Amino acid sequence: MELVAPAGSFPAFKAALEAGANTVYVGFKDATNARHFAGLNFSDDQLARARALATGKSVKLYVAINTYPQACNWQQWTSAVDKAVALGADALILADTGLLAYAADNYPAMHLHLSVQASATNSLALKFYADNFAIKRAVLPRVLSLEQVATLCEHSPVDLEVFGFGSLCIMAEGRCVLSSYLTSESPNNSGACSPAKYVRWEESADGSRLSRLNNVLIDKYAPGEPASYPTLCKGRFRVGDKVYHTLEEPTSLSTLQLIPQLAKMGVKAIKIEGRQRSPVYVRQVVRVWRAALDAYAEQGEAFVPDPSWIASLDTVAEGSQTSLGAYSRPWQ
Ligand code: SF4
Repeated sequence: MELVAPAGSFPAFKAALEAGANTVYVGFKDATNARHFAGLNFSDDQLARARALATGKSVKLYVAINTYPQACNWQQWTSAVDKAVALGADALILADTGLLAYAADNYPAMHLHLSVQASATNSLALKFYADNFAIKRAVLPRVLSLEQVATLCEHSPVDLEVFGFGSLCIMAEGRCVLSSYLTSESPNNSGACSPAKYVRWEESADGSRLSRLNNVLIDKYAPGEPASYPTLCKGRFRVGDKVYHTLEEPTSLSTLQLIPQLAKMGVKAIKIEGRQRSPVYVRQVVRVWRAALDAYAEQGEAFVPDPSWIASLDTVAEGSQTSLGAYSRPWQ
């Protein structure tokens, strides 16, 4: 399976290449991609340098333009498509149907991938995108059980890519407006959930820390307790007489042990989440996944994840804990 690594900066891009990614996905320095955080992403010059570097290593370069344009700024998104094609992207990762139509009409030879943001969860939806926009691949939302992924692999008209590691959203890919509710900006139209300019940290005299998003209290951490980035979905709130993670606990998807099942189902690519994370994170996670996929290719059925790989991934997991996410639904 193809190992698709994130890069939110040029150093992260180089780290992904050195660690053994088959493909690196990136975005421009604007709201056209779903990781539009301050200081991240690629200028045109940086993307041209990344293209040259990737070609030298036979690594593919995908460009994510996976947010939703509005009527007033449509041209910014079509320009992003034009630029990515001109810079030599191997594929564009798109979500908006209008933008898919624009790319399919103007660049029929370009490989189009359906972003996770489009939230296509059944084979009829995939067929719609294949018939109308000739997409070559779809990234599946992180809402599906392993059985559902297997069913889609059997019936999908296009290749499928799934998430293997990284932060989890609340299972409403492309449709979550929690961040808009507090800040007026969300990943869907501004490219960032809980933009950093709205985040405030306060330290109390007793060593506890408060995190706020646009002045709304998201969490209070005891002295020494690991803290996570304050997104509304992962806050602790009072419901009745209890204070707890009401919607979702901070945790990372981690699926090394599923490699044999995903490969047998016919999944074509494994995606690592984290264009907002550091080059150190990218190097560490990609290195582990490269080793694991190589070991699976060698050992087949006998493959078992090395405990040192799991320990290494645990150190960069959100909230220092991992989960199989929706893949595992023992109650079903
Ligand atoms: S609020 Fe949570 S679920 Fe919604 S987009 Fe942000 S991280 Fe994802």
